[in-house]
Amino acid sequence: MAKAKYIFVTGGVTSSLGKGIIAASLGKLLQARGLSVTIQKFDPYINVDPGTLNPYEHGECYVTDDGAETDLDLGHYERFLNVPTSQDNNVTTGRIYYDVIQRERAGDFLGKTVQVVPHITDEIKNNFYKLGDTGKYDIVITEIGGCVGDIESLPFIEAVRQARPELGPNNFVSIHLTLVPYLSAAGELKTKPTQHSVKELLEAGIQPDILVCRSEYPLTQDLRRKLSLFCYVPLNCVIEALDAETIYDVPILMRKERLDERVLSKLKLKYKREPKIDHWKEYLGKLKNPTEDVKIGLIGKYVELKDAYKSIAEAFVHAGAENECKVQVSWIHAEEITSENVAKTLDSLDGILVAPGFGERGIEGKLHAVKYAREEKIPFFGICLGLQCAVIEFARNVLNMKKANSTEMDQRTKYPVIDIMEDQKNITDMGGTMRLGAYDCSIKKGTKAYGVYGHVKIKERHRHRYEFNSKYLQAFEDAGFKATGKNPDSDLVEIMELEDHPWFIGTQFHPELKSTVLSPHPLFVKFIRAAVTHKTSSTTIN
Ligand code: GLN
Repeated sequence: MAKAKYIFVTGGVTSSLGKGIIAASLGKLLQARGLSVTIQKFDPYINVDPGTLNPYEHGECYVTDDGAETDLDLGHYERFLNVPTSQDNNVTTGRIYYDVIQRERAGDFLGKTVQVVPHITDEIKNNFYKLGDTGKYDIVITEIGGCVGDIESLPFIEAVRQARPELGPNNFVSIHLTLVPYLSAAGELKTKPTQHSVKELLEAGIQPDILVCRSEYPLTQDLRRKLSLFCYVPLNCVIEALDAETIYDVPILMRKERLDERVLSKLKLKYKREPKIDHWKEYLGKLKNPTEDVKIGLIGKYVELKDAYKSIAEAFVHAGAENECKVQVSWIHAEEITSENVAKTLDSLDGILVAPGFGERGIEGKLHAVKYAREEKIPFFGICLGLQCAVIEFARNVLNMKKANSTEMDQRTKYPVIDIMEDQKNITDMGGTMRLGAYDCSIKKGTKAYGVYGHVKIKERHRHRYEFNSKYLQAFEDAGFKATGKNPDSDLVEIMELEDHPWFIGTQFHPELKSTVLSPHPLFVKFIRAAVTHKTSSTTIN
């Protein structure tokens, strides 16, 4: 039997209400009271993980230390709780069925008809309890993706229903997040969609203990009473979740509404202490009272959907607060940058970040942006494909290696400066087969990278198939583009930086995945500092 206590968060009325942020905020408040908390997400789609999904479909694919390709909500959990998540924190319908079907093929159910109830629901529950059973957590928060009433989330909802009696009354809380829309024609907030959503949940056998109501306007006492009456939830468990200025305000708003207290009293948990959120408040203070501002260009190919670069955008928020500087991100479509318009397009920027990505689309635009940043001495930060673009650009324009390329873009290039790793060559499956998760990196002393991290040994997360081709390293280093971080075991290049440039760094790994409120990532912090310096020096010169 599970050792932890469980909170289940479902959503209704519409998607995109921010269940992940509510779960992360509640987790933060409980953690700030001294409890150990983890948050897991169950997604109803059939993909085994989101690794094979186009970012336009589902936003960024977040990668954990143990190399799981997961939903972007796990990024919020880590940014809020500052505790790493793992493969076990994200489970999809696809994974559940995959595991059950493999066991069926192995003969585990011999003689039995394998069914949604009980076999699929049992497998879901085993996964619900996995992290709690480790004994590491007082509380496990489980976010169920999608909306109540969706065909595909039914088995998950059924598993939650079964979990309540299994766990017992003081070990289970059900929170339902809904929308209370404002009808401007009537000048009123409306409770009916929430009533219907709760009815749907009740039909599935789940009585919510707490309602969290997203709303653009404060809920009046009358409205709270109405929701309490129709949804059979105590008045003090109708929680208002007003639209917030930033996601980082939500823990404070939830504290004001006493969401954490309601949960603790349902779970019959004695409060260890009031939540210690001074650090969080200090961070918000810095975030909201910047003394400087910079404009950073994010050059990518999925810029229409900001969620595709969620962790980068949030890492900028953390780094901005740390520098007491407002970071204005200008989202620039790589495909729109040409050699004719590059100067005009990037002219007003104080820093340029070339984003990660896959495939050929937008590459030429990214190369123009790198060249501009290199020649104009604008702070440059290349992440994964961004580093690979910096390498290609340098090969072509400095080392005179005509049409140098990555073999991802041109298999027959004369100068494969970025090439597929030997152990990747025979891989045909797309899912979960890249270089994934945390790897060690040793940094050379006396370099910019060393100045950024302040120590030699670091560990950062990866998600790529291609690497810098070490055959060309000597030529690059002789011309001033140096490998300043390498994997100690494989000697693969992890960090490169340019001499004779105020700040030009590329990383094969994804530092954005490890930036949190409590520990803003040093590469982002120093990049923003360099952008501030660049801005100040160029204004003085003018
Ligand atoms: N497409 C490149 C590779 O697979 C870069 C991947 C990335 O930017 N995450 O190596």
